[in-house]
Amino acid sequence: MVKAKRFVVQKHFQGEPKTTDLKLVQEDIPPLHNGEYLVEAEYLSVDPYMRPYVQRYPEGITMIGSQVAKIIESRNPEYPVGKRIVGYLGWRTHTVVNPQISSSSDDTFAFEKPYILPDIGDLSPSLFLGVLGMPGNTAYFGFLEICQPKQGETLVISGAAGAVGSHVGQIAKNVCGLTVIGIAGSDEKCKWLVDELGFDHAINYKKGDIATSLRVAAPKGVDCYFDNVGGDISSVVLYQMKPFGRVSVCGSISSYNADASSLPKTAIIQPTMVFNQLKMEGFIVHRWMSRMSEGVEKNLQWIKEGKLRYRETVTNGFENMFDAFVGMLNGKNIGKAIVKV
Ligand code: NDP
Repeated sequence: MVKAKRFVVQKHFQGEPKTTDLKLVQEDIPPLHNGEYLVEAEYLSVDPYMRPYVQRYPEGITMIGSQVAKIIESRNPEYPVGKRIVGYLGWRTHTVVNPQISSSSDDTFAFEKPYILPDIGDLSPSLFLGVLGMPGNTAYFGFLEICQPKQGETLVISGAAGAVGSHVGQIAKNVCGLTVIGIAGSDEKCKWLVDELGFDHAINYKKGDIATSLRVAAPKGVDCYFDNVGGDISSVVLYQMKPFGRVSVCGSISSYNADASSLPKTAIIQPTMVFNQLKMEGFIVHRWMSRMSEGVEKNLQWIKEGKLRYRETVTNGFENMFDAFVGMLNGKNIGKAIVKV
């Protein structure tokens, strides 16, 4: 009988997640029923959304998240042994999936049903958690649909060296012909953005004054802002926008460890919104659910054409999920943070 491990949410997070908030449990996987299949996780994703999103669910659930997994047993001919799937199965090593019922055996969390991975040749299947997965589609739709970029414009991205930010910058630079400025949390990240990904400028927000650095990098102002972090960084950028600038609000990671009652305070943004006639729109990537394959195909095409590069920060070992998660929240990752089982 297969021994499975999973992380259970013992206690809702308060402030920065603590190891004691999650509990690693081991259990037997029951025999499969007709129509079910059993997968074994190979790569698991750790993403910022997990921190605020899991609070919506009761304590006791399996920690939420997506994974790439291999089918190791099947009583469903459409899901043969040996194929890989990607799905929101939670932080578990093994999952019984019944495609007729839900994404997994007990989770409440499912944006989309698991699906069999298409063939991507020599590329790693882990890319379906990053550049060819949800973060890649977030970059593709969240930037192109909301910023409506035009050649020659200037884009600022916060959280620029992460999975979504690094991807947006390359679409903007290599596909749309924009001037791209990234804001990130270390010199190493900034160097990677400029030297390897071709960003025009990168600003380390932990050093010096962002407003001054941005005025130097974008002396004529900013047309588009792709915001992953919110807070003070964003207020600074918004005050350097040009008239009719567009702001795509993708995330606000600077506040994810705060409770709704203790959100950090930051400068008021309405004056620049009004006087620069800015358009600001938040989104959740699943808005474009019906067009997901378009995003995946485009991103794959750009990888093959050399227009889109990616990087993964890999933590080894399922037991280290928590460390990978908190490390990502604290900026230890460059590119997509994943865990290899
Ligand atoms: P990243 O790979 O960017 O990892 C998170 C990064 O956030 C860290 O590496 C860290 O980099 C940065 N960060 C952490 N705390 C702060 C802070 N206080 N201020 C500034 N930066 C901080 O994650 P993703 O690319 O997966 O996600 C990026 C954003 O996109 C998140 O806000 C996420 O919630 C959002 N998102 C939204 C989606 C949607 O549908 N709207 C879908 C997917 C993601 P650094 O060293 O630079 O600080």
